[in-house]
Amino acid sequence: MSLTSDAVESSEPTLERFVQWLQQIGLSETHLQPAAGFVTKVGGVPLLEVVPAVDPQHVRELSGVLLGCYQFPGGRFELAGCTLDPRPFLRLSLTDQSGRLRHFWFGTDGQECQAEFVRRLGLNNLVPIERRLRAAEEGRLQQWVNVGLSQVNSLLAASALGPEKLIAATIVWCRWSEGTIVFFVKDRVVCRLRFSGWAGDFLNGHQSPPPYQCLESGCTGYNLTLLEDGTLTTVEATAVCAQSGQRTLACRLERCSLTGKSVLAGYLTKCPIQGEKMLPDLMQRCGWCQRLVCPGSLENQLCSDCRTEQRVDVSVAPWRGMIASFPQADRYGAWVGWKDDSQAILRGRCLSSEIALQASLPEVKLRKVWRRFRFRRRWGELQVD
Ligand SMILES: [Zn+2]
Repeated sequence: MSLTSDAVESSEPTLERFVQWLQQIGLSETHLQPAAGFVTKVGGVPLLEVVPAVDPQHVRELSGVLLGCYQFPGGRFELAGCTLDPRPFLRLSLTDQSGRLRHFWFGTDGQECQAEFVRRLGLNNLVPIERRLRAAEEGRLQQWVNVGLSQVNSLLAASALGPEKLIAATIVWCRWSEGTIVFFVKDRVVCRLRFSGWAGDFLNGHQSPPPYQCLESGCTGYNLTLLEDGTLTTVEATAVCAQSGQRTLACRLERCSLTGKSVLAGYLTKCPIQGEKMLPDLMQRCGWCQRLVCPGSLENQLCSDCRTEQRVDVSVAPWRGMIASFPQADRYGAWVGWKDDSQAILRGRCLSSEIALQASLPEVKLRKVWRRFRFRRRWGELQVD
């Protein structure tokens, strides 16, 4: 028997109990053999080095789980530059007078690990490995053990448990994974997603690699798709335009206020009178201004703007120029009208008739003139030179 731990040489706990315990965790005393150039004891107790049995030691064990999260029917994706960095946790093993064994886990920051974290990453289901800690690390390791022990002692004191004795320290090497998943369309890289986390957490499903976030819609998801215009997005962010049948981003669609259909914004026309957007084939065209307006809003073929009774000052532009462009306009008065950026409609009356002038703006070019005689409903178009 080569086991010479100070912990087990003392009266209690017994050497037999310690060996039993080693067997319980899948180790034998051969794992405690001194190894030249490596740390094999710390604080007078044996130092073990182990890995969680479930922790991946090779990228290939992880790649399937990571890549399995994504779908990209229009392209392909692969793992690029994935590393599995072993990072240590410290486990202190103590027994009380009756031989009852208790473990405490600590991170490199000296903080005790939560029980849920220990269970999740399998820090209590361990497999021995070749020694990694060089003798030069002994001082730092001793410091880590001291910090851990002082925490254990205050914990025991607070819980009124009996004195416990350190019998072994274990370094549990856990794999921290970092890498990039690269998405291609043909040979062109269309997206890179970086991930990092405990490799064990990716395997046990606690963590997933990041979803793709669509730049335009902000939607996130794992089912990627490429739109006809080359936009990379997620299937969840897409919808079909009811007018064209084209699959596009749902956020590019707008509702027709008449039919409720969701269509690409370019298919809709805004009614200048009511401000609502709708499919133009449902709209009606005003006989004077030629604008498309909400169905049912025309009277006598004219929109409400063209029917305006709003008086205008014809001594100023553009009204003055419009009157000057049509010589017979002198006979008319009581001018009303409206204008926007592209055109102006001016209407005047005299005893026998009414006249309406339409000019394009901003150049104030007279385009059309209509006239109707008193007590007539229909307007007739006059020739403009
Ligand atoms: Zn009009």
